[in-house]
Amino acid sequence: AMAQLDENGPQAAGLGYRHDATTVKNARYSAGQQCSNCVLFQGGDSEWGGCPLFTGSQVKATGWCSAYSAAG
Ligand code: SF4
Repeated sequence: AMAQLDENGPQAAGLGYRHDATTVKNARYSAGQQCSNCVLFQGGDSEWGGCPLFTGSQVKATGWCSAYSAAG
């Protein structure tokens, strides 16, 4: 299985990624946004899933980054 993204690493920092969206301090963030409802999340209903912006690592369903785009 792919490794979980290190939220304190440079890849995550570049897009302001956090595993817990509710802790995000970012002007682009709105309450309710998280990876599981982002169009780029590949994890379905799983707790962790792939994201094309973080190749080789999994992001958390409850996570968020500044490239968030609402699904649907
Ligand atoms: Fe999560 Fe979407 Fe950012 Fe990927 S692009 S890390 S799925 S919020």
